[in-house]
Amino acid sequence: MTASNASITTVSLPYGTAGIAAAARVIADGGCVAMPTETVYGLAADATDSRAVAGIYAAKGRPGFNPLIVHVPDRAAAEALAIFDEAADRLAEAFWPGPLTLVLPMRKGAGIASLVTAGLPTIAIRVPAHDAMQALLAATGRPLAAPSANASGSISPTRAEHVLRSLDGRIPMVIDAGPTPSGIESTIIACADGRVRQLRPGPISREAVADLLGVAIGGAGAGIEAPGQLASHYAPSKPVRLNATVRQAGEWLIGFGTVQGDDTLSARGDAVEAAARLFDALHIADSAGTARIAVAPVPDKGLGAAINDRLRRAAVPA
Ligand code: AMP
Ligand code: MG
Repeated sequence: MTASNASITTVSLPYGTAGIAAAARVIADGGCVAMPTETVYGLAADATDSRAVAGIYAAKGRPGFNPLIVHVPDRAAAEALAIFDEAADRLAEAFWPGPLTLVLPMRKGAGIASLVTAGLPTIAIRVPAHDAMQALLAATGRPLAAPSANASGSISPTRAEHVLRSLDGRIPMVIDAGPTPSGIESTIIACADGRVRQLRPGPISREAVADLLGVAIGGAGAGIEAPGQLASHYAPSKPVRLNATVRQAGEWLIGFGTVQGDDTLSARGDAVEAAARLFDALHIADSAGTARIAVAPVPDKGLGAAINDRLRRAAVPA
């Protein structure tokens, strides 16, 4: 039985000491928990545990891998994971804790699962301003990856009942703290190469950011970099051949199931394991001493659909 087709009982617990302790146990066991934040309910898992992060995708049934936002308790925890330039410094000082996500260069050895960043060298990070999420961060001591706690294609949940409407039976637990204060997803600002850009509008306005920094803030490049359509998706630098069952000359073969390669996404043909390994396997293949990459077929069900979506993008010449 895989996480994508398992039917489990979803427990709803009120926010409080017992609820947070139970949620922390689920996280420690590599599971995910729907948590209130000041924006919307998020589906939280340990951002350093690639299988736990794959479980988020399995529960949401997302057709592709978007990079996820990492939630940390404070500025010091964020500094351990990302490199702040002067603009990022001032934005964090002014708006954290709060509904502002910063996309920053990730620190070497940050220990974040590559599935969280979808293989990118940057990390999206924020310090949430909700007591429940802060309590879970304190209880787990882990950075928590958390996209919105809804099945793919349904609207973002601002109440525990909304979470249950789309994820009942697909996640072990939701912590209920009533309606979320904001109901809108966080503003996303990228700080890189001395530039500041808004990648997603949200509760903190572009004007507020511009006023603070004293500069005009560029948008998402005429909409190209809207969520889900990142121009900056990780792509290998070499040609990629899909549905390969045998290695051809000059190829590094990434196997799956019975197709053995130089590496494998999952020797036992498990889609959750394959999702957890996907970006690492692509990076390893990219730095191997071969001219091309080949990838074994992955069945298009459950998480396999998201894996294939990602592989098809990797196979399109840059
Ligand atoms: P969600 O977690 O569903 O609220 O969505 C997170 C969004 O953050 C993604 O869809 C991306 O648009 C954006 N994002 C996360 N990480 C990065 C990154 N490293 N670079 C650029 N955008 C990012
Ligand atoms: Mg969402």
